[in-house]
Amino acid sequence: MVDISSDRSKIPALVDALDRKLTYLRISLTDKCNFRCFYCYGSAQEIERTAKLSLMSSTEIVDLIKVFGSLGVNKVRLTGGEPLLNPSVVDIVRNISEIPGIKQIGLTTNGFLLKEKLSELIKAGLNRLNVSLDSLEREKFCEVTGVDGLPQVLEGLRAARDSGAFQRVKVNTVVMRGVNDSEVGNLAKWSLENGFELRFIEYMPTRNTLNHAKKHISEADIRSKIDLELQPDIGNLTSAGPARTYKVDGYPGRIGFISALSQKFCESCNRLRLKADGRLVGCLFRDNSVDLISMLRSGMSLDDLAYFVRNLVAKPEFKDEADFTESGFRPEMKTIGG
Ligand code: SAM
Ligand code: SF4
Repeated sequence: MVDISSDRSKIPALVDALDRKLTYLRISLTDKCNFRCFYCYGSAQEIERTAKLSLMSSTEIVDLIKVFGSLGVNKVRLTGGEPLLNPSVVDIVRNISEIPGIKQIGLTTNGFLLKEKLSELIKAGLNRLNVSLDSLEREKFCEVTGVDGLPQVLEGLRAARDSGAFQRVKVNTVVMRGVNDSEVGNLAKWSLENGFELRFIEYMPTRNTLNHAKKHISEADIRSKIDLELQPDIGNLTSAGPARTYKVDGYPGRIGFISALSQKFCESCNRLRLKADGRLVGCLFRDNSVDLISMLRSGMSLDDLAYFVRNLVAKPEFKDEADFTESGFRPEMKTIGG
């Protein structure tokens, strides 16, 4: 039996059946969102269905993170839906910062409410930040997200950069043919000049994506849209997780690529995901989640849960590498958190 209060060095880390050390947990704080991104948010029926889900409370979220912290997870990322809509987000960050072993606390946000919550989040212990931004053109931004919110997002981004609290503020851009691919060069230049680390993300086939095959654009094609003098230099490559990021001489920012389709990274995947309804997900593209929150609610101790989770991930359910183009399973991004 794992004793959460015991010496952490004696507790074996979470290792799955492919020998991957699972040290990174993403948690969806809510499935609600103040944006309506056409590739993510879903139909009225979807929204009605997810509205009925019973979501984790902030105490339950922190308890479950304690379980994972005891098993060697050292990095957590809060996501959603829009995580800043969770009224307890600052308290959750503060409570996570007190969990032994958790060194990195990250947030992935659409940035709309970022400026107003930023200083409290930093004080509470937030030390990693990703902001999603698919367009620098106000009208197009509005078409993609359903909200005329570009000025607010840019203000949030600048405030985060100028706070000095984050080594680098990251920007996530999903590139879609015929939607924002014409902006790739501009986005790269903007990020390099303004000191952000912008990662171009290949559009993935998820439950609510429409016309995926038509809109998907490969990393090679994305790269070809970046001006020659700003082309990523392979000599300046750094790689952290699925992102491959490049410095370009003479600029403070960086650009990178996350290419789940054309450059699969399953063999080095170190992440687990906790959905907003408290189900643990091993792989974004496998339909095999486990209802952890019901176990917690049934009175299972955190020690017992840790024991269960450790044995669970070592089993073959999590063994197969994702081959999402063929698996047919399509995750719902706003409940899982991307
Ligand atoms: N609302 C927050 C946000 O937008 O940053 C957090 C949740 S959102 C689901 C997390 C990330 O998933 C965003 O960067 C979003 O662009 C990305 N995402 C959603 N659907 C996607 C898709 N089909 N392909 C690639 N990325 C996707
Ligand atoms: Fe909301 Fe993020 Fe999905 Fe856009 S991508 S609808 S901001 S959860």
